[in-house]
Amino acid sequence: MTEFVLAIHGGAGTLKRGTMAPEQEQQHRAALEQALLAGHAVLQQGGSSLDAVVAATLVLEDCPLFNAGRGSVFTHEGLHEMDAAVMDGQTRRAGAIAGISQVRNPVLAARRVMEQTGHVLLCGAGAEAFVRDQGLDTADAAYFHTPLRWEQLLAVRETTQAILDHTELKAPSETKFGTVGAVACDGAGNLAAATSTGGLTNKRYGRVGDSPIIGQGTYADTQVAVSATGMGEAFMKAMAAYDVAARMKYGHASLADAAHAVIHDSVLQFGGYGGLIAVDHQRNVTLPFNTEGMYRGVIRSDGRPHVDIYRA
Ligand code: ASP
Repeated sequence: MTEFVLAIHGGAGTLKRGTMAPEQEQQHRAALEQALLAGHAVLQQGGSSLDAVVAATLVLEDCPLFNAGRGSVFTHEGLHEMDAAVMDGQTRRAGAIAGISQVRNPVLAARRVMEQTGHVLLCGAGAEAFVRDQGLDTADAAYFHTPLRWEQLLAVRETTQAILDHTELKAPSETKFGTVGAVACDGAGNLAAATSTGGLTNKRYGRVGDSPIIGQGTYADTQVAVSATGMGEAFMKAMAAYDVAARMKYGHASLADAAHAVIHDSVLQFGGYGGLIAVDHQRNVTLPFNTEGMYRGVIRSDGRPHVDIYRA
């Protein structure tokens, strides 16, 4: 049988064992499994790693439990501004989209940027116009409005006002990051990565994080594919996704050592909490995080999904 592997994440944060209601935990696990199986189906039929990461990401974008597509968090103004990226390791082609609010599946828009334009990143109104030209499915604000995310915004807005009155900020590690992503190595040994996010709750109008920036939240070449989640600003300054590749390429680090150093050293130096998923061309997988937990999963050719949330 041809060997392949797919890994996914659904965000990292304060995910302490025992604090989530059992049925809520079960829903998250089921959604992660569904995403793994969607990617597996593609790879089993001989599909590419690019097709597989997109298929897995689509499932998570459509699931309101995760901060991407439906379920995206709100900006300070109570709107949605979503970012996404894809990268194909074999060809080094990449596409990304930032600050879009009406596209049902931002990961498909990112892929269209890669395949239909000579550009890597489109943002804002121009990106929305491109998506409409491409005939991709759009959705109105009601589709993206989920009660949980609205409550989260209201809580943070209130907290911010209290902070102006000298209240201490909650530790950044208490934030939950719900970005989704996938990395895969297909039967031919080709790698790909995809990441999709609503960004951070209460973010400023126009703020773009690491997810759609190639080399920061998303990266793939012939050696490694990476998708990150966490405080975007820190991942951006650390060049997190590419730093994994660079440590392997120039420092000859193993996949696990490179990714561990990025999450537990480089990103933390910028005060960044979060994690990443990475796969190399030998189909090794690593899923490090420096938070309490990270929604994550791996599936290999045998088709058995492995899903986890908490620290070992
Ligand atoms: N990294 C994302 C951002 O900063 C957020 C997340 O991972 O949840 O936009």
